[in-house]
Amino acid sequence: MENQSNLNELEQFNKEIRTKALGRMKKRTPQQLSGSWFNDDLLYSGIGKTVYIIVPTPGCSWALGDSGGCTMCSYISDCTLEPVDDNEIFELFKDEFEKYELVGQTAVKIFASGSFLNPLEVSINVRNNILKYLGENEFVSEVIVESRPEYVDESTIDDVFSFLGNKLFEISIGLESSNDFTREEKINKGFSKKDFERVINLINSLKNKYNIKSKAYSLVKPILTNEKEAIDEAIETAKYCGAIGVDRISFTPTTIHRGTLVEQLWRRGAYQPPWIWTTVEIINSVRNEIAIPSFMDTSGFGSRRGPYNCKKCNKELKHRIIDSNLNQSLIEYECDCKGEWKAIVSNADLNKSKTFIRHLPLV
Ligand code: SF4
Ligand SMILES: [Zn+2]
Repeated sequence: MENQSNLNELEQFNKEIRTKALGRMKKRTPQQLSGSWFNDDLLYSGIGKTVYIIVPTPGCSWALGDSGGCTMCSYISDCTLEPVDDNEIFELFKDEFEKYELVGQTAVKIFASGSFLNPLEVSINVRNNILKYLGENEFVSEVIVESRPEYVDESTIDDVFSFLGNKLFEISIGLESSNDFTREEKINKGFSKKDFERVINLINSLKNKYNIKSKAYSLVKPILTNEKEAIDEAIETAKYCGAIGVDRISFTPTTIHRGTLVEQLWRRGAYQPPWIWTTVEIINSVRNEIAIPSFMDTSGFGSRRGPYNCKKCNKELKHRIIDSNLNQSLIEYECDCKGEWKAIVSNADLNKSKTFIRHLPLV
């Protein structure tokens, strides 16, 4: 522990959990880790198709660092943890991409389980080859990548557009929350709003030169956050993003990833993923109040480790949210379980509970 003396208690605990999880992790080859799927999506040009491709990487530098990365994220377990061969990665990317027959304008979303623009995660060689390959495809109209702010600068963006020409390029950043305490202390994100705003301002200043866009991810219900705070903070985050000129916002409700601090708290009954009603409330409010398109990720909905309402409405609401992401509509739906959710939200400030009352020991 002596090399962690500059870390606070949360960071040390987080790092310990991460180190243990990495020790238990079964190593997988780049072939086992690469993957893709194809789906309907709301492109910047309207409803269309997106190819989603997972690019195997050695792992997110932030998660591998001294403080163990973000408290809810286990993407590192989908990484090789050792150097990957450039040619192999590019060939795997092409194999995945070529599985789909593109017919019209298509977006490509690249997931690197971290930062696509960090050369330690995706080498410049691989990045350039992928972008050149996509730049030359007549059907690809939009390319979307994820990155932490520290890897976004003007010369990197110039490089990207030297391959993409006038195709659209979106950089998605995991801001998670506009609340500094939440982002720094509950999520351990490791960057400030100033860092985030630098990138948004840079992107906006380049819009007269390039077809460039930004997206923010907002985490719904970080640890030590009750149901009402989760709603309020997500809406606040969307307002903040709209005000500083982010182009899109995507909400990711917490699911219980293995080997994370979130999982440790959940196992002790001290954390519960949000209700699906909470996600509906957020998306309806944001679509009413904020002009930028908003999306709700439905991964893990209705599962033991994900957002949950009741057996009767989990599935139906999940499908309605997916549909509403495409047309940006509001979600109108009722179920008997809504009353319980309403009671929890309206009493959240009174009892200060961060989890369901029925989960607290009564003795
Ligand atoms: S959320 Fe992103 S930055 Fe944080 S640990 Fe996961 S991959 Fe890394
Ligand atoms: Zn229900």
